[in-house]
Amino acid sequence: LHPRIQLSKESIFSHMSRLAVQHGAINLGQGFPSNPPPAFLQEAARRAIGTVDQYTPPIGLPRLREAVAEDLGAAPEDVVITAGGTEALHALAESLYGPGDEVVMLEPYFDVYIPQARIAGAEPVMVPMRLTDRWEVDLPALERAITVRTQALLLTNPYNPTGSVFSRTEAEQIVALARQHDLWIISDEVYDELYFGPPPIRLRELAPERVFTVGSAGKRLEATGWRIGWIITPPGLAPQVAGMRQWSSFCSAAPLQAAVAEALPIARREGFYAQLRESYGRRKDLLEQGLRAMGLQTFAPAGSYFLTALLPELDAETLVREGGVAIIPGSAFYLQNPAPRGLVRFAFCKTEAEIEQALERLEGYL
Ligand code: GLN
Repeated sequence: LHPRIQLSKESIFSHMSRLAVQHGAINLGQGFPSNPPPAFLQEAARRAIGTVDQYTPPIGLPRLREAVAEDLGAAPEDVVITAGGTEALHALAESLYGPGDEVVMLEPYFDVYIPQARIAGAEPVMVPMRLTDRWEVDLPALERAITVRTQALLLTNPYNPTGSVFSRTEAEQIVALARQHDLWIISDEVYDELYFGPPPIRLRELAPERVFTVGSAGKRLEATGWRIGWIITPPGLAPQVAGMRQWSSFCSAAPLQAAVAEALPIARREGFYAQLRESYGRRKDLLEQGLRAMGLQTFAPAGSYFLTALLPELDAETLVREGGVAIIPGSAFYLQNPAPRGLVRFAFCKTEAEIEQALERLEGYL
């Protein structure tokens, strides 16, 4: 095998989920919802199977490209449908950078960013976020990280794992930096509808000529295993990015694309995302209050379904085995800088009962 096979190591998310099943632990590690997808999505899929079953164009089923464009105020020609947000990010890595190039990212980071940059031959350059009583972007450090080799900034908003959301000033300064150094921005916005304060800024609106937005039906519609995601490209670039993904999955599952096309306008019209925010907000509060009641420091998320906290130093694998709760250790999100001591990430896209039980177990264990 090629030496790049070292990148095939099991991801921390799969690893913790596997341990959780093995030890009967409550899984607040990997971020996937306990709830089933909404009935309107499931019904649309049942109708699509048997009618939309063959290949779609690699760029996506036309009606889904239109639905995504309509939802996000983009042009349908600029939409590429992918097999989830992960393939979207991979297609962008392959399209935008290669050997000798650098990609600047924030730390803590979402794990797929690193292997994807390396598979493309590029080097990730990490800029640590500042942790005070909240997570902040260190703009001067971001600027210092940019070199002549930098091709792109890879950012997430709302951010996984911190749950933070860029302020308008942060977003504007990031975009100004990208303009000044002529960089692409890959903006991973898969949690775009999941926020607890004002709606997150969409970077594309500030710089449509250089921002690639990544989105996910799995995250929005509680169907992470369906693998339907999308990219909105700067004008004119979608056919080329789609041309890269045709060599991997060729196209995404056709009936599921049709189902998502039908579901996106329904979700918007019927206030599905507002309900989601309300229900996630309750679960966030439950987890946050429970952890605080144990005297632990938590960092209130403004979006996503993740919460970071500082725990007395413990080994995540021992916690799954002996404490019956799976979480993601903070070190999994750091490559070049040390993780803050005791940092962990909790996913709260689980049922209230699961969260309550996890809190009880944690209290007993700590
Ligand atoms: N996005 C999810 C998380 O951060 C899971 C991603 C994955 O397992 N690839 O937990």
